[in-house]
Amino acid sequence: MRTQRQVIDYSLQRRAVLRDVRNGQVGALEVCDASPYLRNAATYHGEPTDERCPICRRDNLTLVHYVYGEELKNSAGQARKLAELPVLAMTLREFQVFVVEVCRSCAWNHLIERYVLGRDGLVESDTDTPLASHGGEGRR
Ligand SMILES: [Zn+2]
Repeated sequence: MRTQRQVIDYSLQRRAVLRDVRNGQVGALEVCDASPYLRNAATYHGEPTDERCPICRRDNLTLVHYVYGEELKNSAGQARKLAELPVLAMTLREFQVFVVEVCRSCAWNHLIERYVLGRDGLVESDTDTPLASHGGEGRR
């Protein structure tokens, strides 16, 4: 997305949790604790993926996008469809997106990444060449 910025990736933490589960240090039940709300969000607002659940391997993972920010007012903390995010990003100046993966079979869930969207990011990306975001030399 054009205004995406301040991306924080949680794949290292996710890998550490999965390693602990495989080692038996953490029980699968402890990490497969998606709340009914999260599972509902996955059903109604989730983005299907081709990736198998790393715990049960019965179902593909679903990504749920939660939005947070003062400008969202009452809808802060709600799950949104991925297709709704570009619209919000053109309407609001700045809001946070938290991406959570959920397995609808076993209730495995983990934060994947978070980032900021919104019109405030346009000034910078308009002066940049699109898709020039390889590497990180000198850029934020
Ligand atoms: Zn699963």
